[in-house]
Amino acid sequence: MKLRKFRIPHEIIFIIEKIQKSGKKAYIVGGAVRDYLLGRSVANDFDIATDADPQDIMRMFNRVVPTGIKHGTVTVLIGSHSVEVTTFRLEKGYSDSRRPDAVEFTHDLIEDLSRRDFTMNAIAYDISNASLIDPFNGQVDIAMKTIRTVGNPLERFSEDGLRPLRAVRFASQLGFSIQEETYTAIPACIEAFKKVSWERIRDELSKILLSPVPSVGLRLLESTGLMAHIIPELLPGRNCQQKGMHVFDVLDHGFLTVDACMPDLELRLAALFHDAGKPFVKSADEQGIPTFYNHDKKSVELAAQALRRLKYPNDCIDTVCHLIALHMFHYEDNWTDAAVRRFIAKAGEPYLERLFLLRLADGSATTGIPADPRSLVPFRKRIDAILTEQSALQLKDLKISGNDLMAAGIPKGPVIGKILHELLETVLDDPSQNERETLLKIAGKLKSKYL
Ligand code: ATP
Ligand code: MG
Repeated sequence: MKLRKFRIPHEIIFIIEKIQKSGKKAYIVGGAVRDYLLGRSVANDFDIATDADPQDIMRMFNRVVPTGIKHGTVTVLIGSHSVEVTTFRLEKGYSDSRRPDAVEFTHDLIEDLSRRDFTMNAIAYDISNASLIDPFNGQVDIAMKTIRTVGNPLERFSEDGLRPLRAVRFASQLGFSIQEETYTAIPACIEAFKKVSWERIRDELSKILLSPVPSVGLRLLESTGLMAHIIPELLPGRNCQQKGMHVFDVLDHGFLTVDACMPDLELRLAALFHDAGKPFVKSADEQGIPTFYNHDKKSVELAAQALRRLKYPNDCIDTVCHLIALHMFHYEDNWTDAAVRRFIAKAGEPYLERLFLLRLADGSATTGIPADPRSLVPFRKRIDAILTEQSALQLKDLKISGNDLMAAGIPKGPVIGKILHELLETVLDDPSQNERETLLKIAGKLKSKYL
């Protein structure tokens, strides 16, 4: 295959040449070389490997952050780039399966490449003569779309339990297969994997979910046994059949819903969990047809539990749970305007688009046939009409506030909130009531109800 030219930003060339002028070696390594060989546009992050000491690099450049100085990594900030420059190193002993007990610097590039995880990630590029240093035949594996550990996979995975998950993540991101020996080593190294921090697992899971066809990675997580540690909540969905329009079991339906969503992390997380509650609430009606009452609530509970364990930020968890809680919305043309307003008020305007996308993806993953976006057009039109009328949909849109109620003699306390909510209900039914004087009158009547 004829490769395109390796487009290397001039800032990267500047760093490498400066290190070389000091008499040391410097190469581009890692993902940038791999992506170049794949003919993909190279991500912004370039990694450089060098035999210069971290202290030398600190002295050589103006803006440098000692990001992992103990492990030989410093980050050079230059233009819009932040470039990790890492001293050639060997890793000694991994008693905790997470971090090497000690790192030892070396002057040998090949030794440095040999500590890297996969052959495709163990290739160095020398800008001085545009050549590749590829001691583990990574180029062949890239051409064969194969993920293979450098050296014995059982050893490499038990040294660092994150590597099995990286293998799955790369398979999903790049559409590669995991070479057989490497693949079978994953279930054998689950104990090492269990020692990895939830934050690192979360970051890899997010990359899987944002990859072009996430179900590739999700199925690998399941078949290798990683899923049982990461998100056991999903596994009861396997072989949980649904009947009706559904052609997939609950777990496959979840995976395919993720595939059918655009790459937005919160949306795809919601897709993954939206029906997770089904196996837990499954029952049958008189005809023996399966029912899943309140599965949305159970799915919210399971998603919150899993996402908290995975240390996703609270606002992400809240958004995902909100989308799941509302994914069953059911619009009919005979809805009144008040019902449409109540729906917008409940969903919140910023979430509407994602609820629609989730609905379409859910539909596609039910029948296996892409859902027709036109099915949502009538509801969208009703919503647009309500939004342009700019009526009150939230408490803050009311023409009076809690202070106004207090000034009208209603004592400070929970009653204020109750009355404001009732006023909002009134205004959702009839927006013309959202006038200060009218609302004060209604509040006066409500006062006697509560006090
Ligand atoms: P991307 O940045 O696109 O996710 P990458 O291959 O650059 O992919 P990084 O996490 O940035 O991945 O790591 C840079 C390089 O460091 C990798 O290509 C690999 O050579 C090495 N590396 C990273 N993590 C590990 C690990 N856990 N074990 C061994 N080598 C690793
Ligand atoms: Mg990288």
